[in-house]
Amino acid sequence: LELIRKVDPEIVEVIEKELSRQKRNIELIASENFVSPAVMAAMGTILTNKYAEGYPGHRYYGGCEEVDVAENLARERLKKLFNGEHANVQPHSGANANMGVYFSILEPGDTVLGMNLSHGGHLTHGSPVNISGKFFKFIPYGVDEKTEMIDYDKVRDIAIKNKPKLIVAGASAYPRIIDFKRFREIADEAGAMLMVDMAHIAGLVAAKLHPNPVDYADFVTTTTHKTLRGPRGGAIICKEKYAKAIDKAIFPGTQGGPLMHIIAAKAVCFKEAMTEEFTEYQKQIVKNAQALSQALSNKGFNLVSKGTDNHLILLDLRNKNITGKDAEHLLDQVGITVNKNTVPFDPQSPFVTSGIRIGTPAVTSRGFKEEDMKEVGSIISHIISNPEDIEETSARVKILTDKYPLY
Ligand code: PLP
Repeated sequence: LELIRKVDPEIVEVIEKELSRQKRNIELIASENFVSPAVMAAMGTILTNKYAEGYPGHRYYGGCEEVDVAENLARERLKKLFNGEHANVQPHSGANANMGVYFSILEPGDTVLGMNLSHGGHLTHGSPVNISGKFFKFIPYGVDEKTEMIDYDKVRDIAIKNKPKLIVAGASAYPRIIDFKRFREIADEAGAMLMVDMAHIAGLVAAKLHPNPVDYADFVTTTTHKTLRGPRGGAIICKEKYAKAIDKAIFPGTQGGPLMHIIAAKAVCFKEAMTEEFTEYQKQIVKNAQALSQALSNKGFNLVSKGTDNHLILLDLRNKNITGKDAEHLLDQVGITVNKNTVPFDPQSPFVTSGIRIGTPAVTSRGFKEEDMKEVGSIISHIISNPEDIEETSARVKILTDKYPLY
């Protein structure tokens, strides 16, 4: 920071304030995490100086012999971690990874099935405001109104009727195990290819706590910064027969030069993800989500699908007479960070919403255990019922954040 301070004190101020916010708050955004010092350090290296358009051994620039080693390590580790045939570690983000798959095999106007955004899907799975929805004819599928779990029979019906070229499985706000085997059967019956976006659950998959989509899908995309706890970025794993098409779709199709410092940090992340310690961490994420879901249920909160199998909980706040937007704001005031989220069949707009999404990856990295999650549940419940108790509730948050210092 002292190096930056000499050049740009305004940016140092931002970093310092953000650091104290991260230390002060209980971070419950399901897609966020705290990277290891090794991942953080790799991102801040001289590898950022290098242009390396192309792929290892086939670059459009000289001097790539060292960065080639980094990219090969990242690719090999990613394949090993998920038992994949081919890996591309260049996508700058999860969104870019998804675009890479779409542009490798689809023509504009092709029919694709994707999970409804308001049922837990992602913008890049065909939302009309996203390029995916503008270029391709996405048909949404969703959850059953009663169980609030994916209605596989309906997915099948929609697939048989519409004959999509591709089915996209995966979600941003779905608390249950996704049955990839079932998706494969549906895709085969409908004559479609299958892509799984495992961005949220990649860490759980690596630790074998969730079925591995690589066993079933033609393409698997991911982000590297959520449960996987790596740098911000994306990656694709695919069957060998699609390797060339995927690589071409990322570069030169949709991206320019790869971010070699980020690719090095991805390699570090994948190495960390192969350790016993990482598996234990993922197990604790799930235990913490279970403990929090129990605590919130006991306080009368409605959980979408009545519980969770993974790292996240979706709370339906309609019985608590508060919108997602107001709950997010209220929790922020006491130092708890969550995001408002639509619930299935939400009567509110996406800017207001009836729910909040709560995830345990970041607090688990910080060291929180089940008893701490019970206290978090109690704090959330207390402030939602007693919105005037800001000071007293903030003090309870501080006890927890002081117990687990960050960085
Ligand atoms: N896919 C899923 C399922 C996600 O949840 C997200 C991000 O929230 C993305 C893709 C996009 O990732 P990024 O923000 O890196 O583009």
